[in-house]
Amino acid sequence: MQVFKFGGASVKDAESIKNVATILKRHEDVEKVVIVSAMGKTTNALEEVVNLYIKKDKKYLQYLHEVREYHQFVSDDLFGLKSPIQYKIFALFDIVENFCSRNNSESYNFIYDQIISVGELASTTLVAAYLNHAGIKNKWLDARELIRTDHAFTDAQIQWSTTQKLVNSKFKDKSHNTYITQGFIGSTEERFTTTLGREGSDFTAAVLSYCLNAEKLLIWKDVEGVMNADPKQFKDAILIPKIAFKEAIEMTYYGAKVIHPKTIRPLQNKNIPLEVRSFIKSDKGGTLIHSFKEEISYPPIIVRKEDQVLISFSADDFSFIAEKHMQEIFGVFAAVRLHMNMMQNGAINFVAAVDNKPEKIQEVVKLLENIFSISITSELDLLTIRHYNDAVLNSELSGKSIWLTQKTRETIQVLCKV
Ligand code: ADP
Ligand code: ASP
Ligand code: MG
Repeated sequence: MQVFKFGGASVKDAESIKNVATILKRHEDVEKVVIVSAMGKTTNALEEVVNLYIKKDKKYLQYLHEVREYHQFVSDDLFGLKSPIQYKIFALFDIVENFCSRNNSESYNFIYDQIISVGELASTTLVAAYLNHAGIKNKWLDARELIRTDHAFTDAQIQWSTTQKLVNSKFKDKSHNTYITQGFIGSTEERFTTTLGREGSDFTAAVLSYCLNAEKLLIWKDVEGVMNADPKQFKDAILIPKIAFKEAIEMTYYGAKVIHPKTIRPLQNKNIPLEVRSFIKSDKGGTLIHSFKEEISYPPIIVRKEDQVLISFSADDFSFIAEKHMQEIFGVFAAVRLHMNMMQNGAINFVAAVDNKPEKIQEVVKLLENIFSISITSELDLLTIRHYNDAVLNSELSGKSIWLTQKTRETIQVLCKV
């Protein structure tokens, strides 16, 4: 069994869905599971629906209808007007509308997951129907009957043993060799829909690869493969043909957005190779992520995280910052689920750089302002360079206003004022 994953950009319109069919035709003889994200920017559009609904703004319905219309247009393009597929799509959006009109919960995260998941359900319905139409017989599976999670809506954690049992029981149909399912979504034991965190479809692909003991996972992106920097930020970025699991974990941990950070571990645990390939130049090799016997020599790998906020804590009683203070600070960050991208402890203050998530930052401040004086600096960039050398440091740092630097033999992190 092989696992294929196609992200939003690869299924954004009728032409793109046809391209996915062309790629899959080339792998016709392979038994496979195809994981598909929501089309294009659907998840962002649905987030707006959620935000309006939470604010009790009736415009949410109009926004939801616009998302439905987008799917209807793609369906019209693929199957002609008023096809049965269009009505299947409408039925999925009706479920969301019904949920919205009946819902009594005030929980943002719960509501978010119930609404947002329609993006993946609708995209996979279209893709599965088109593949059948194009002669690629397949079975559509509801990922909520495969991926069992806890109740941490919007950031649900996989319950591995139940998920393994569900996967064992659902992939038994031998009448075709292709299954289609959604990335990003799962469900609790009561069948409430959950999501795994933004961009979580890569992770779904890894979870299913793990549970199916897949021969390999192929993730199809709008780039040639994994490069030494985001080509949208660095025009000289180059392809890295081979990457060891360990290096991939490091890169994604520091924020290389090409693969969701949780993706690599399940693959590494079962030594399942991951190919990152281009759905545009689909005959090219891409990047192979695996365990390699030989040492790989990497070029400098650059990750730039924009819109960082530095939070600085100093003890109100003028004491040194000690372990007890840190325990308090870490406890609050963990409870609020705000990740520290970089941190440093000094005699009288502790600083942490985080992504600009205003609600979470406010929550941290509220919970700690009785104990610490807190100051906040925004509009910072965090540059992480692995395998750095003098040349790359000179070219990336010259002229920058540097706020904080940390360095190990392999990695340098520099926080700069924009
Ligand atoms: P998906 O379609 O699966 O959601 P994403 O858009 O999340 O794909 O990821 C692909 C994007 O990741 C690319 O368009 C590229 O801009 C970005 N990216 C960030 N870092 C890298 C990197 N090191 N190598 C390649 N692409 C990168
Ligand atoms: N559709 C979801 C998102 O945009 C999940 C994914 O694409 O991986 O975040
Ligand atoms: Mg994405």
